[in-house]
Amino acid sequence: MMSCGDGVQVVCEYIDKKIGVTKPVVPANDALGLVGGGPTKFKETCQSCGQCELGKTAGICPLTSCGKGLMNGPCGGVREDGKCEVDPEKDCAWVKIYERMEKMGELDKFTEMRAPHAWSKAKRPRLFTIEEPVKPVRTILASLPSYLTLLGGPEYEEE
Ligand code: SF4
Ligand code: SF4
Repeated sequence: MMSCGDGVQVVCEYIDKKIGVTKPVVPANDALGLVGGGPTKFKETCQSCGQCELGKTAGICPLTSCGKGLMNGPCGGVREDGKCEVDPEKDCAWVKIYERMEKMGELDKFTEMRAPHAWSKAKRPRLFTIEEPVKPVRTILASLPSYLTLLGGPEYEEE
């Protein structure tokens, strides 16, 4: 199946529970996550952590850009040339955050204490409940052919 792992799992759940057929569903691509860049080199930019910190870190994600995921400034290993202790090929995330805050005239934010990141929102598997779709969306969904109800995905059981 040509999709990320989510698509494969949606189809597995669907055929098991809605059709009553259990068959192998094989992934045809390897999802790497939320990345930026391209066309040949990509960098993870977000790990969907559930509590975005970018408003406190000049729009640079400390969880994906810092080798240690630090929330309150650089570690003691940042190199003299501003590169990362963990990977000397990469710029230190906290040097970049500092420089960006400086350019924006927001350096006072750099020394603000940021609360520890709330990893509780990223516990696995994460379950989401959204509000009922607004009426126009419900109407559109109701008008779709029945085979497209697959788009609604599987119904996850409450734990
Ligand atoms: S803090 Fe980083 S990982 Fe979390 S949502 Fe924001 S960009 Fe994504
Ligand atoms: S050098 Fe910078 S990016 Fe690397 S681990 Fe330390 S704080 Fe994070």
